[in-house]
Amino acid sequence: TAPVLTIDGPGGAGKGTISRLVAERLGWHLLDSGALYRLTALAAVKHEVPLDDEAGLAEVAVGLDVLFVAEPESTRVLLEGEDATGTIRTEQVGDAASRVAALPAVRQALLQRQRDFRKPPGLVADGRDMGTVVFTEAPLKIFLTASAEERAHRRQRQLQEAGVDASLSSLLKEIQARDARDMQRSVAPLKPADDAITLDTTRLTIPEVVDRLTELLTE
Ligand code: C5P
Repeated sequence: TAPVLTIDGPGGAGKGTISRLVAERLGWHLLDSGALYRLTALAAVKHEVPLDDEAGLAEVAVGLDVLFVAEPESTRVLLEGEDATGTIRTEQVGDAASRVAALPAVRQALLQRQRDFRKPPGLVADGRDMGTVVFTEAPLKIFLTASAEERAHRRQRQLQEAGVDASLSSLLKEIQARDARDMQRSVAPLKPADDAITLDTTRLTIPEVVDRLTELLTE
């Protein structure tokens, strides 16, 4: 079977950007598993399934009609044929995603869908439990972190570029709340796999991280 590189870590550590660049450099496929949880939350809202109806949400996850269209700088996401690329990135959907992601039946429902992304020549899998649950036998597992303050700064810059002003203290609070929920949930809590290499990106640039990961892969 095809090789897998797993990249796990908290939100805002740069996993999305780094995973995309590493996949591009290697010519490998990319799995953005967070997008699947975001899409499940969005589809549930669309079909009026309450965010605490575990069985209903699992059904939504199994039946998720989603298409990832790779484009030069990004990936376009279609939910039931409609563009959802921007919508799934909002704080509201992110918050709903982390709630549905805490439900075991939802995680189970998305398991095979995630594994199906593994195809030759290889897969870069971005998420929270890629190395601990979904691809436990991956030969190289990375845990990408950065201080909460640095992640709040990065998020603020991202929002500024999109023309949105947000205070650093409110962003820091949101990040810490999301971290706590992801780390304390009973299923697939966010933590490095026993055999993961932890990389703190607080003081690293994006190209530095991409180079480091490419080096690790060829070692
Ligand atoms: O990475 P992203 O912010 O898009 O993920 C949204 C939410 O989905 C996270 O806060 C987390 O709760 C959940 N998630 C997860 N397992 C993954 C990826 C994301 O629980 N593999």
